Amino acid sequence: MIKVVKFGGSSLASAEQFAKAGKIIQADKERRYVVPSAPGKRNAKDTKVTDMLYACYDLVEAGEDFRVPLMKIKDRYDTIINGLNLKLSLEEEFKKISENLKNGAGQAYAASRGEYLNGIVMAGFLGYEFVDSAEVIFFDEEGVFDADRTNRVLAERLLGLDCAVIPGFYGSAPDGTIRTFSRGGSDITGSIVARAVRASCYENWTDVSGFLIADPNIIKNPQTIKTITYRELRELSYMGASVLHEDAVFPVRKAGIPINIRNTNAPDDEGTWIVESTCQQSKYTITGIAGKKGFVSVSIDKDMMNAEVGFGRKVLTAFEENDISFEHMPSGIDTMTIFVHQPEFEGKEQAVISAIHRLAQPDSIELEGDLALIAVVGRGMKSTRGTAGRIFSALAHANINVKMIDQGSSELNIIIGVSNDDFENAIRAVYDIFVVTQI
Ligand code: ASP
Repeated sequence: MIKVVKFGGSSLASAEQFAKAGKIIQADKERRYVVPSAPGKRNAKDTKVTDMLYACYDLVEAGEDFRVPLMKIKDRYDTIINGLNLKLSLEEEFKKISENLKNGAGQAYAASRGEYLNGIVMAGFLGYEFVDSAEVIFFDEEGVFDADRTNRVLAERLLGLDCAVIPGFYGSAPDGTIRTFSRGGSDITGSIVARAVRASCYENWTDVSGFLIADPNIIKNPQTIKTITYRELRELSYMGASVLHEDAVFPVRKAGIPINIRNTNAPDDEGTWIVESTCQQSKYTITGIAGKKGFVSVSIDKDMMNAEVGFGRKVLTAFEENDISFEHMPSGIDTMTIFVHQPEFEGKEQAVISAIHRLAQPDSIELEGDLALIAVVGRGMKSTRGTAGRIFSALAHANINVKMIDQGSSELNIIIGVSNDDFENAIRAVYDIFVVTQI
């Protein structure tokens, strides 16, 4: 069996963290393929190497001297290398990077060097083969990840190697130039590698012991989620819960490989399992709560709306024409409400309203801003009666005015709309009723 292990930036921020990662890898022979991020923050005031590299690139662009900041980055690596007592010099690599930056290598090239160099250090530390992601992870001309070609080439290359380090975050375009995923993209690389080698598990090592039921900035010491399905995760990440890059789910999900989120600083913790499906009920009716502030609701009224074929399409066309995506759309018999992001909508509100009037001739349109959406997610809700009722009464007890409540047809989630000011209290009330009182 093969496990692919990905270590995040904080897990590799110093020699001490590297040593922890090394111990974890060596503790299990199945951990054969390692995907490192760039060194992250060592403390709250520190800067991630990736951010230092972006800053370097900005200096290049501005025609300013970037040598001092580049040497600061070299120092970060040298401190790690020395701390691990490795006989490794990145002198030549930094010369090459400096040359390439001077000669117009792009922003993605600059950013990718964080993972590239960390991969070299990791490979030296473990005695594993280094595989440059530029040779095995591909993007097309438009910059879209080329899953098929990558899977073919990567599988062939890795299956010939017992153990290897494959840096996260980047790959190459058909012309050979470097491309990166969006920020946090090493998670995606890990998933791609897991799929290519048909791993039994994709371990994603970070600095928390898995997904928490709710945001720790709102709930003090929230419980960890033991098992979550891909679909539940998607609902929660969409609503802002973040530990894993959203796109990291797709490659492994296709291959039915579970993801295990683990904590480098507490390796004995079981972490969270992300799985396709499970017969395990979660301990609570709900699996997690997440939410976002900053929405506007656009409520459209029209008598007999339900009988008018194409009404919904006409309304949505008004948003499409103005290049606004909608987030959520609960509807009643003669009303429909569209939730959109406030910052995106504000500058275009009158254009959208007039377009709705022109296209759909509603009776009235009402706007309300400063709203928050909260998703209460859980596969257990399907088999439990009264979940929505309990949410309602918890929120009423907490004196929170519920603007909207909508249960998705999958019965996997319930979306609640409240005003921005009630956001934190609403999450606390829902957490209390389902987790603290353990009903
Ligand atoms: N180093 C990159 C970033 O900071 C990618 C990653 O860490 O996943 O976004």
